[in-house]
Amino acid sequence: AVMAEQEARFRASVADRGTVSDQPRRTRERRPAGAGFANTTDSDPAVASSRDWAMTALEAAPRELTSPELTSIAQVDDVVTRARRAGATWAGLPAAERAAVLRTAADAIEARRGDLLTQMAHEGGKTVAEADPEVSEAVDFARYYADSALELEALSGAEGLAFTPTGLVLVTPPWNFPVAIPAGGVLAALAAGSPAIIKPAPAVPGCTEVIVEAIHAALVDHGYDRDVLGVVRVAEDEVGRHLVAHPQVETVILTGAWETARMFTQWRADHDGGPGVFAETSGKNALIVTPSADYDLAVADVVRSAFGHAGQKCSAASLVILVGSVAGSERFRRHLIDAVASMRVGWPEELGTTMGPIIEPAQGKLLDALTRLEPGETWMVQPRQLDPSGRLWSPGVKEGVWPGSPFHLTEYFGPVLGVMTARTLDEAIELANAVPYGLTGGLHSLDEDEIARWESRIEVGNGYVNRHTTGAIVRRQSFGGWKRSTVGPGAKAGGPNYVAQLGSWIQEHRPE
Ligand code: GLU
Repeated sequence: AVMAEQEARFRASVADRGTVSDQPRRTRERRPAGAGFANTTDSDPAVASSRDWAMTALEAAPRELTSPELTSIAQVDDVVTRARRAGATWAGLPAAERAAVLRTAADAIEARRGDLLTQMAHEGGKTVAEADPEVSEAVDFARYYADSALELEALSGAEGLAFTPTGLVLVTPPWNFPVAIPAGGVLAALAAGSPAIIKPAPAVPGCTEVIVEAIHAALVDHGYDRDVLGVVRVAEDEVGRHLVAHPQVETVILTGAWETARMFTQWRADHDGGPGVFAETSGKNALIVTPSADYDLAVADVVRSAFGHAGQKCSAASLVILVGSVAGSERFRRHLIDAVASMRVGWPEELGTTMGPIIEPAQGKLLDALTRLEPGETWMVQPRQLDPSGRLWSPGVKEGVWPGSPFHLTEYFGPVLGVMTARTLDEAIELANAVPYGLTGGLHSLDEDEIARWESRIEVGNGYVNRHTTGAIVRRQSFGGWKRSTVGPGAKAGGPNYVAQLGSWIQEHRPE
């Protein structure tokens, strides 16, 4: 009865948008198989959430974990040994063979879309509108890195260089993208010719299990040893440290806090080949709005950038900087308040939810950001805790954030946005660049000179003009940052150098 009622409510809510009726179950299915990139990160959430199968996925129970136990030190060593053994064969394969396995993996991940949505909703609190494009991103990574493997080999032949994979890669993904980020790291390692081990974030082990099953199925399908991809479950304790500092792990791919990257680097300081920590880390991202902007578009993008997945993205906009007359514009202000206040906060199982829960009860600096104001700050929209779980918060917007204040410079990773003002665009760029990080940034402006000035001065890896700052698309918007948003060589995920950084070029010796 609850399901029927939920479905009726959902259908009523989308009926007037005209998106349900005779839609194919997935728009993407209309494309011929293998036609390239799913690229649905941009897709209209209304369409994404109008799919019948999404309802089914949300109603399904999460899986019983296949390996619920944490891994011991002895087991870690065993997984390392087996991955390296399987990796010897893997490294010797022609790139075309590895690419074929990756393409099969893409299809296998696609085939598990429903399971992944179920798992992401239950473990990660992800709404369908957020989780569905994440599956597409994982599929895109598989196809894109398959292409990278072929390109690297072609280059090797042409230049008399041999691409040699780095060796065993450990992938330590975050909980906020529990499918795309682990899949991307592992698939890049496999594309380069390296074995990989994945250590899921503690909150989302089931998401990892589904991804690993899909990739294992592809390996086995092509007759390869599944040990080339190993899994361990460890915490940041002595077992975790043993794994991260393991002498036979050559590279660690981390997505997480800058402080964690520092810690991993220290743990690995004695490593023969150098620490080998490749990390995409924190962000404190600003979206700038100038008087020439299309205000309606700007507000929609601010809201999406700040509150998608409840602001729990490295790429989220945490500051909006209003330039000149935008700061005093009653229309902009009214529109922003309405857009934020009309978000529907709830659990992802409710399809009408536009903003889901935070990963754990608000605490520490996030709780402060949601409940306290510094002198000079006022609430434009005050966040409220909506239920006793401590995980459901309505989105908040504070104004009066001043240069150099805690809110200006701190990453909070939650549903709270700060408004700053600047007299000129240059001043706004200075405020945006004053943070220690440099991951994403946005500009809303219809003035070509302003756009050019912002593009040449803003210190970010991913800068977006008249677009939201989240949801980078594989190949089109390879993802990564500057400053404290990156550690290591800094090649961007889903971009041309990502697989290449997981190996080195050796000049082939051709005796005369
Ligand atoms: N790639 C994601 C995006 O563009 C962000 C990943 C992250 O938060 O770590 O939104």
